[in-house]
Amino acid sequence: MEIKVAKHAGFCFGVKKAIEIAEDVAQGNSGKTYVLGQLVHNEKVIKNLEANGLIFVDNISDIPQNAVTVLRAHGEPGTTYQSLEKKSIVKGRNLNDATCPLVTLVHNVAIKLKNNGYEVIIFGKHNHPEAVGTSYHLRGKDTFIVEEPEQAGLVLDYINKNNFEKIAIISQTTMSVYGYKQLIQNINNSLNEKFAEIPLSMRNLDAKYGFVDTICNPTKQRQSDTEDLAKECDIVIVIGGKNSSNSKELYAKCREFGVESHFIQSEEQLQKEWFDGKDKIGVTAGASTPDYLINEVVERIRELYSDKKEDFAQS
Ligand code: SF4
Repeated sequence: MEIKVAKHAGFCFGVKKAIEIAEDVAQGNSGKTYVLGQLVHNEKVIKNLEANGLIFVDNISDIPQNAVTVLRAHGEPGTTYQSLEKKSIVKGRNLNDATCPLVTLVHNVAIKLKNNGYEVIIFGKHNHPEAVGTSYHLRGKDTFIVEEPEQAGLVLDYINKNNFEKIAIISQTTMSVYGYKQLIQNINNSLNEKFAEIPLSMRNLDAKYGFVDTICNPTKQRQSDTEDLAKECDIVIVIGGKNSSNSKELYAKCREFGVESHFIQSEEQLQKEWFDGKDKIGVTAGASTPDYLINEVVERIRELYSDKKEDFAQS
């Protein structure tokens, strides 16, 4: 039996940094430290942080006036900063912003496209905090968001119903690389003038239809390593929080390749019978999964295998 752990698995640098910031702030603060929203989409990590004194709230109304506050890596709409300012919570004093620089990059891309006359469409998840944050720089709640490549028809309807001079598509950082390609291809199949890639340098903003590859590199690395595991393993275990968009993409990638795969949050969910007749086991994890959870899963798989050997010897 061989267990192969994906080279790029678990916490990305953006999530690591956000957790470091939150822990440092809580340690240096004698009062309460609030975090707006789930700092990371992983239930176990959140519980550990709560045990270290951090208080997670979903609404700004639950944060007291003047409280020390941390913003997560996903990026916030400008309205968040405005509402916090009304509570005397401001950057440089008691507001600690852990927005990932790669999310800020997407915001900058969106703003530049908009300022150059583009109607900007997001390939992302409607309720994902990152898509909500990016939408703020576009049309707010009315920003057109497309979730699946199969919804290319909706994009075409939107284009046909409106008389936009220029249209650009950008992506949430954690979406499927393959899905994004598919979406563009599906749209282009019905257009005479095709969507062409605009480089991240944002030179050449003259094209009528363009798309920018804003999926972040850590996401790409995790998807590509998972694809390799799906091709060479008999079974792949994907570890990630239930709400983790990038972990769900890794699971979808395994299913796309037809390999038996299971999406779990922790080692207790592993079942012995999954491993019957399996020699090569792949383990991967989304960007919000800490190393210790990956190690616990690997350890538990080894234990299940040694139990199986004993069962076999006794029978
Ligand atoms: S997934 Fe990408 S954009 Fe999101 S926090 Fe990690 S590195 Fe940053």
